[in-house]
Amino acid sequence: MTTLIKNGILITAYNEHKGDVLIDGEKIVSIEAESKALADVIIDASGKYVMPGGVDPHTHFSALCNVGNQDTAGYETTDAVVVGGTTTIVDYAPQDIGKGLLDSIKYRINVRAKDSCVDYALHAMITDVMDSIFDEIQELPRIGVTSIKCFMAYNGSPLHVDDGTLYKVLQKSKEYGITVFVHAENGEIIHTLQQDCVKMGDLHPRYHAVSRPAFVETEATRRAIYLAQIADTPIYIVHVTCKGAADAIKEAKCRGQKVMGETCTQYLTLDRSYLEQKDIREAAKYICSPALRDLKEVDALWDALNERTLNAVVSDHCGIGMNIKQYGLDNFTNIANGAPGAADRINMLWTEGVTKGRISKQTFVQIISTNPAKINGIYPQKGHIDIGSDADIMILDPSYKGTVRLADNPNGVDYNLYEGKELNGRVDTVLLRGKVVVEKAKFIGEFGQGRFVHSNSFGAAYHGLDDIK
Ligand SMILES: [Zn+2]
Repeated sequence: MTTLIKNGILITAYNEHKGDVLIDGEKIVSIEAESKALADVIIDASGKYVMPGGVDPHTHFSALCNVGNQDTAGYETTDAVVVGGTTTIVDYAPQDIGKGLLDSIKYRINVRAKDSCVDYALHAMITDVMDSIFDEIQELPRIGVTSIKCFMAYNGSPLHVDDGTLYKVLQKSKEYGITVFVHAENGEIIHTLQQDCVKMGDLHPRYHAVSRPAFVETEATRRAIYLAQIADTPIYIVHVTCKGAADAIKEAKCRGQKVMGETCTQYLTLDRSYLEQKDIREAAKYICSPALRDLKEVDALWDALNERTLNAVVSDHCGIGMNIKQYGLDNFTNIANGAPGAADRINMLWTEGVTKGRISKQTFVQIISTNPAKINGIYPQKGHIDIGSDADIMILDPSYKGTVRLADNPNGVDYNLYEGKELNGRVDTVLLRGKVVVEKAKFIGEFGQGRFVHSNSFGAAYHGLDDIK
């Protein structure tokens, strides 16, 4: 089947021009200023922007919450993600209880992700340090996984990776072309500050931010970057939220070290005041780690994106409903960390970033699609509109005016962090490998349409970032 997207303005990470995109089957086969091609399906994109489908490289579908012993919303809720313009996620594959990295990844591909509406690559994720994981690392590229996540925070829980283990993971990963991703927060200091809050009776969600100040993130980011420098291997810092951590990345990049970093929609568009709301149920929704910051940190993150210190904007999506959040309402340390956001990342970033003049359209495409595809070794199959790439395309209507409403695009849980926020422009049509799966901002695809995507090793992925200046 052939499809022609006509009359739209094509925006890629590199440029912007009038372009008709011809698709044959799952691939893009030609791009011309004015195509005369005949096609089975014609999509008129007059007055709209045609961009590569979003790549969200930080999601947690069907993952055990850190509190409450329940899973986050699963892949059957990824229809909302596609409606939001994202066609590929790189989801975290935590170790299942008592299982190693490989078995957990295989189980995810074969069982957990069978209803996925988005294509997905995977990151290995250490959630239970056992000797066997060091032998498993070398097998990861063979099964299409080329990144591994370590949590420097959450001391006292099986998630925590101590510095010795992190150093060993960095060394092992280097040998096999795997990029190490770190959640950089100093867990010991957080634990101490949390205990202080609890002793003082300071239990409201606002103390989540008090007990996780920016310096704990900056310190751990500097430590992780230093260990990666000694191990002489690339490192990727997840969810950067403050100037201190961004500066650490910038300094390392200036030295020539291979360091990459991301931030999240929530750290760019929300601030600490959301945690300070009187209504504890409301405030609890905004508990994610690191914590929401002051406005001056928010401004610093936009600067860091523009100067290429940070390379991607991700959702850190965790479908944790109030049924799980409610367990800790009497003590913030017991509230499950994380919130949904994969469905809102692109529309929020368009309105808050592009239409408010904070980032260019090219930077927008870079940080929501092209860079994540490169970093995760799935470019140019994903993250780009070019001949031979998968026909994953989102069409955005810049004239749309409305507000975010959970009811318009249910995300699998009972709230949306961005409820009521203004939208100027919205994704209204999405193609996944050539097939129209979203029309008029409604899902018309099939559950289970998403496929596992193999990642390549960091060599190509990392160096690919150099051509974006
Ligand atoms: Zn995360």
